[in-house]
Amino acid sequence: MKIISFLNPKGGSGKTTATINVSTSIASSGKKVAVVDTDPQMSLTNWNSAGKAGFDVFTASSEKDVYQVRKELGDYDYVIIDGAGSLSVITSAAVMVSDLIIIPVTPSPLDFSAAGSVVTVLEAQAYNRPVEARFLITRKIEQATMLSVLKESIAQTGIKAFKTAITQRQSYVRSVLEGESVFNTSDRAAQGEIQILSKEILSFFE
Ligand code: ADP
Ligand code: MG
Repeated sequence: MKIISFLNPKGGSGKTTATINVSTSIASSGKKVAVVDTDPQMSLTNWNSAGKAGFDVFTASSEKDVYQVRKELGDYDYVIIDGAGSLSVITSAAVMVSDLIIIPVTPSPLDFSAAGSVVTVLEAQAYNRPVEARFLITRKIEQATMLSVLKESIAQTGIKAFKTAITQRQSYVRSVLEGESVFNTSDRAAQGEIQILSKEILSFFE
């Protein structure tokens, strides 16, 4: 079992949208996937209120729940943690239990600073056990200046970014509102980028 966490204390960075779509893609490839919602706002749990998810959803209400994930959910191939919207003890717990940490960041220059706090926790954790981490560009728009500023900020951290980004598309917003993913829409471009991203993520474990 491998644990992958989407972490960025900045709300709106695209954690839940990425978690839903990547988890759907990995589950549809035949893997047993559990998603753990650690956000006190429970947006992923609420997203699944009609039970349409192609994976099992669990809600963690404290850092203790997060620390127990490896023991409690050991039967799954992948456990995917949707991070909290603030820098909490839950974020630190998720860093400690994860095999791979994904930090979603949007091209908006004001959004990047919150990501730095995850990097700080990562660096502290690295003294005990090095953990793989990658930035994931989300809500990507073709705005050259913003993208180059973002890439520069990422480079300064010394942590790499995934080659695949998640583009800003209405299909992500609409499908999530329906309790679904882009795989329930006709947006082939969105589905394609999620599939390529999921492959890039899983290649860490091959
Ligand atoms: P977080 O979980 O980090 O708070 P969300 O995934 O909830 O972020 O996204 C925040 C907002 O941005 C939501 O309204 C969501 O619909 C929108 N959003 C996220 N990713 C995309 C995307 N790729 N394209 C368009 N809108 C997006
Ligand atoms: Mg969220």
